[in-house]
Amino acid sequence: MYKFSVQYCVLTLILLTGWFPSCNKPVGTDREQDLADESNTSDWLAYGRTHSERRFSPLTDIDTSNVSRLQVDWFLDLPRDHALVSTPLVIDGILYFTGTGNVVRAVDATNSKALWTYDPEIAKEIGNHRKVGWSHSRGLSYYRGKIFLATWDGRLQALDAGSGKLIWSTRTFDLNKPWFITGAPKAFKGKVVIGNGGTEQGPSRGYVTAYDAETGQQAWRFYMVPGNPADGFENEAMRMAAGTWTGEWWKHGGGGNAWHGFTYDPELDLLYIGTGNGSPWNRKIRSPGGGDNLFLSSILALDPDTGEYRWHYQTTPGESWDYNSNMDIVLADLMLEGIKTKVILHAPKNGFFYVINRETGKLISAKPFVETSWASEIDLSTGRPVEIAAARYVQGPGYVTPGPHGAHSWHAMSFNPITGLAYIPSIHDGNVYSDQGIDLASWQAVDFKGGIGVGLTTPEKLPRDYPASLQAWDPVTQKLAWSVPQQELWNAGTLTTAGKLVFQGRADGKFLAYHASTGEILWTFDAGLGISAPPITYKLKGRQYLALLVGWGGAFAGVGNKALGWEYGKHMRRLIVFSLEGKKALPPLPPPYFPVPLDAPDFEVNDSLAKAGQSLYGKCSGCHGPGLLAAGMAPDLKASAIALNLDLFRLVVQKGERLNMGMPAYPDLTDEQLLSLMHWIRKKGNEILYPKEL
Ligand code: CA
Repeated sequence: MYKFSVQYCVLTLILLTGWFPSCNKPVGTDREQDLADESNTSDWLAYGRTHSERRFSPLTDIDTSNVSRLQVDWFLDLPRDHALVSTPLVIDGILYFTGTGNVVRAVDATNSKALWTYDPEIAKEIGNHRKVGWSHSRGLSYYRGKIFLATWDGRLQALDAGSGKLIWSTRTFDLNKPWFITGAPKAFKGKVVIGNGGTEQGPSRGYVTAYDAETGQQAWRFYMVPGNPADGFENEAMRMAAGTWTGEWWKHGGGGNAWHGFTYDPELDLLYIGTGNGSPWNRKIRSPGGGDNLFLSSILALDPDTGEYRWHYQTTPGESWDYNSNMDIVLADLMLEGIKTKVILHAPKNGFFYVINRETGKLISAKPFVETSWASEIDLSTGRPVEIAAARYVQGPGYVTPGPHGAHSWHAMSFNPITGLAYIPSIHDGNVYSDQGIDLASWQAVDFKGGIGVGLTTPEKLPRDYPASLQAWDPVTQKLAWSVPQQELWNAGTLTTAGKLVFQGRADGKFLAYHASTGEILWTFDAGLGISAPPITYKLKGRQYLALLVGWGGAFAGVGNKALGWEYGKHMRRLIVFSLEGKKALPPLPPPYFPVPLDAPDFEVNDSLAKAGQSLYGKCSGCHGPGLLAAGMAPDLKASAIALNLDLFRLVVQKGERLNMGMPAYPDLTDEQLLSLMHWIRKKGNEILYPKEL
């Protein structure tokens, strides 16, 4: 209907005035075909640019010969934000992005002029959900004049793209469950799909739900793992999956939460979902007689209209290491033995790079792109990994690579059909898994207290002497084309262009352009703050822009137990947009800041209180950082005066004085427990040697 009326108006205008339209259509027109159009350069319409999720732009204005001249064209300071992990969208000249608290902003994509802001007011809605983290979002979805937002607390919302007004809002999970949404919804073909995270926060049974894009009415729901057979199965796929589980798995939820990795394939009319790991991780608890545990750690192909099962490929049967398969699902056409083949490219946590036939779900090839000590290879005749027995920590602790951070996580992979290479933000990590001392028969996770059913120890030595790298991978030969080592963990997602470039922001605050064929560094920009979001590019009014959100954060921003100096409230968060014509200078940011423990000569640490506090601190570490290294997500507690005064500490921690800033209330904590936390904060704070050790 929209399409007809726009065409009619344009035709009338041309006939009456001789005027010829520019390519800009008003927001609200039907862009459904454009979501699959790889040649469109004026927009970035979907999370991965188009339905293919390649994050490849055909733009060539910025190329290997001139990228060194890139400068800031415009920027927007975001003083109230902290973690920024979002991929912006650009539609009809408007740039949309999600910030902290899932606040959505629409700005002119050529000059930063604010058009509208929408605040879903998470603090009012969120209740207990603060206890499972706080408020970052990887992005939005666009469809027929609407912007779709999924909030941390589990609402899916449709906004008018032109005005930011709320059109509909629907709750996607029960607020009594310890779940959250960090992912971008996926809109296509009249529907919008969303799942959730929270596999580790309590007994969890993952699912995805499709809603009618116009009305928000539920269209279908597909569970990732079967429920209790006594309750009946929702569909035949669940009946089939139940044959791969043992024991009373439903009491543990099973897992499989779909928190990322949704791709719609318009050529085959299939929806692919990347599924999560087990709840809990330890299969000996959730499925004690063994089994593959479908559909954990899989790519599932569903009928987009009905949600019916079409096919699946499981990357990690009997998952036991947090090796979920939620990573990007990228669509490509590869020439394989002379035949153009429609494939999925997938680099999940388990460290193998998979090329899968997307018509059938059959595995074409799989090779390790990092060290994989849990499996030696993937057997192409069965499609199954050849496991190394000790990896399942049956006879005692097992050292396994990759570790739970994965070989690759949610940081976006891109694929360039010109170079034929995929660009993977890769992690070189390992961990020791052990369930010694855990009573497997009685172990049970509790909502909001969570648990994984296995103990983890950081090993003495990691696979390489650097924790991460940018890897260019050839999916046809399944070989590494080039690799650039990186000294910090948790670098951001990638963008690649027909200008033979790859762009990536790093944890250390550098934003780089690489030659897509060789990995040569062609341009470096110091953003002055760690980067967690992937860049996008678009062309408006004859100018190619490159946009990047700069705001260190997101899940595991404090990983690696190393402070980077990106402190809460110290470094301005920004949207920075670059071009070859740019002339702006950014106001400088303070250097990396390393808070030192507040001087408290009268505070005498009591060791037994501190020990009790250490075990309680697990509630705090998600935001305030593992090992008391806050990593900018929340105030650093050893430098907080509140953590030195029981009255103030009680007000904030027990009474919820700072609910609006994201700090949950823990009314059940006793004064003795609060004191024990204070003692542990002092003891641990004084033990931390940084910044000297850096
Ligand atoms: Ca997980």
